[in-house]
Amino acid sequence: MKGFLEDANYSISLLDEGVTPGDVIDNCIYEHTLTGKNAFFVGDLGKLTKQHIHWQNVMTRVKPFYNVKCNSTPGVLEILAALGTGFACSSKTEMALIQDLGISSKNIIFTNPCKQASQIKYAAKIGVNLLSCDSELELKKIARNHPNAKLLLHIATEDNGGEEMIMKFGTTLKNCRHLMECAKELDVQIVGVKFHVSNSCKEPQVYKHAISDARCVFDMAEEFGFTMNMLNIGGGFTDNEQNLEEVNHIVSPLLDMYFPEDSGINVVSEPGCYYVSSAFTLAVNVVAKKAAQCDKRLPFEMEQTRNDEPVFTYYINDGVYGSFASKLSGNLNAIPEVHKKYKEDEPLFASSLWGPSCDELDQIVENCLLPELNIGDWLLFDSMGSGALGERSTFNDLQRPPVYYIMSFSDWCEMQDAGFASDTLMKNFFFVPSCIQLSPEDTFSIAA
Ligand SMILES: *Cc1c(COP(=O)(O)O)cnc(C)c1O
Repeated sequence: MKGFLEDANYSISLLDEGVTPGDVIDNCIYEHTLTGKNAFFVGDLGKLTKQHIHWQNVMTRVKPFYNVKCNSTPGVLEILAALGTGFACSSKTEMALIQDLGISSKNIIFTNPCKQASQIKYAAKIGVNLLSCDSELELKKIARNHPNAKLLLHIATEDNGGEEMIMKFGTTLKNCRHLMECAKELDVQIVGVKFHVSNSCKEPQVYKHAISDARCVFDMAEEFGFTMNMLNIGGGFTDNEQNLEEVNHIVSPLLDMYFPEDSGINVVSEPGCYYVSSAFTLAVNVVAKKAAQCDKRLPFEMEQTRNDEPVFTYYINDGVYGSFASKLSGNLNAIPEVHKKYKEDEPLFASSLWGPSCDELDQIVENCLLPELNIGDWLLFDSMGSGALGERSTFNDLQRPPVYYIMSFSDWCEMQDAGFASDTLMKNFFFVPSCIQLSPEDTFSIAA
């Protein structure tokens, strides 16, 4: 499987039947062990296809605009482009990436609530006209820099699930009226409404309020003479299949009531995690280790470990200033899995995992039970597809670990059967049959 380490960012390995993602991870670990033990990702792009087909079956009326900030690696964007999703971008860099894929600017929304003027100009230049907006200053900035802008007014939701309403982004109904007055004055078009529920479905009420509020804004817009045609219900869907069905169960009757199909309103959404989270596994290596005698500082949960047992601190070669960035915002529950085989009855020890920066914020797992690890051992983290691989997460000089893309043969067939295997995809992607013995010459292009 030589192809894995070469040109990894630009090829998808099509897995022969019988080869599992686990086999691929084993093989990459083998190769990386020989070449310096750097961390790496394996991304199973077939999962994106599956998620998309599920979306189409469940959310029949809602067109997804994939939220690029969640994961903007080329394999992901290329597959989603072939699947025909739109794209929600939050920066110039993201818009440029999507444009390079040949996506029509009609299928791009510029959704950042705080946009830099030069980036608004860029959107204008490349014809990305749909922009979200939630304040007067933002509206004026857009009016100055983008004569053809079509705005989605971003309204606030009560999506923190508690009684207290935190209005992070989004505006009130009252202010929408004011924004419409401003828009009329500045001759800016308003074409729709956007909201975002970050924790979708935990609180059905949130959707109820958000969709009825959106209706109010549409009615208001009619008074002002705006032609409204788009409702954007945001993201926040988890990658669990049931979640989407639950959300649909709540949202679909509300849409039928407030925005019936014959109203001609395009309903769109901005899922991110939903598509990519579970598709990516991160493999990291233990680079240093400390053993401490158990003492009183042990947290309560660890009391069951015998007093004379050591507590291990492991340092791994990726951390919160790299692939675990979401840890800093509390959005990541990283669960390590030990790659080496160990006996079922092997003793487990209280362990903590830290990134390589030696910074006190760089803690990845505070407290977990693991067999004793050695320097050079590998740990795997599942569901790492969202957050770590976006444009905004490449801070510092820390190099992003390489990504090895895979797709099972059956997922590839399913993609073809569903009519998604576009020419663009075939042109840009090379498929490496993944029999372990293959030499690089056996690499072939599907387009050939
Ligand atoms: C990040 C983000 C999304 C995507 O969120 P997911 O939870 O990944 O679906 C959608 N809309 C907005 C406004 C966002 O900031």
